[in-house]
Amino acid sequence: MKKVFIFTGITDHAENDREFVIGKLKEHNMEYSRKLTSDVDLIFCVGGDGTLLKLVQQLDFPTIPICGINTGHLGFFQEVSMDNVDVFLDRFNNNEIIVQPYNIVKATINTKYETLTFHALNEFVVRSRTNNLIHLSVSINNSFIEDYSGDGVLVSSPAGSTAYNYSLGGSIVDPRLNLLQLTPMAPMNTKTYRSLTSSILLPEDDKIIIEPEDERSKSLLILFDSEDKVVTDIKSIILTLSKRKIQLVRFGDLTFWDKIKDKYL
Ligand code: NAP
Ligand code: MN
Repeated sequence: MKKVFIFTGITDHAENDREFVIGKLKEHNMEYSRKLTSDVDLIFCVGGDGTLLKLVQQLDFPTIPICGINTGHLGFFQEVSMDNVDVFLDRFNNNEIIVQPYNIVKATINTKYETLTFHALNEFVVRSRTNNLIHLSVSINNSFIEDYSGDGVLVSSPAGSTAYNYSLGGSIVDPRLNLLQLTPMAPMNTKTYRSLTSSILLPEDDKIIIEPEDERSKSLLILFDSEDKVVTDIKSIILTLSKRKIQLVRFGDLTFWDKIKDKYL
């Protein structure tokens, strides 16, 4: 008997949604698991893209397949709707589901006192805490690239390319590609401060190293998916594509580019 865990957002309809899905599991002879134990076969994530971001942060990027059930607008990560849960569960019972791996960004922050590690499905942002410029030295692997001056920088996974990255003028990346995108936020480009003004794309094994260049830039706001934190006494931040991936269920007929067309054009 297949075992399924259900994750919902905090909304008025979350409890009703959960009861509805539990009812469907019973009808299809599957077991509802109240906890995410290692023998769970599938995680249902009921909500929008933001709900999946919460799930991965709260459950520490589980490797069990995740199936998004969309209850909002067209979700990038959700492939099933409340109307076709039955069809999906029939396929799942027959072991006919397809999963797609999704890359995640890993950030390691070395401060004067400790080392902090973060993972993000969409993006990791390093940003000024105030209305003042920050100055960051940006290196790729062992090569120094630039003295960046501006609001901050965003490092996006392919999945995150359609979110904050896109609003900043970054490129849309098909999630089947394994790469990192570094996008500047309001880069200064004058005779005093020269920064790259476009995104750059890096292959999967490359490493981005960011180091504060002045006292003010050692204390920064960092954002990872929908979470945030102020980190002080920063010495360096290292960003890579994690070896870990999450597995998202593919179900509908829409391709990635169909979704782009539906959501943006
Ligand atoms: P939110 O403030 O409630 O909404 C952010 C919006 O982005 C929602 O419409 C969300 O979709 C959508 N979204 C999330 N991930 C996406 C993706 N990979 N591709 C396309 N759209 C996506 O916050 P949230 O729902 O918790 O999402 C957090 C994300 O918001 C962050 O990771 C960041 O990428 C994004 N964000 C964007 C801006 C900006 O564009 N200026 C600023 C801050 C944060 P749903 O409605 O389905 O949840
Ligand atoms: Mn949201």
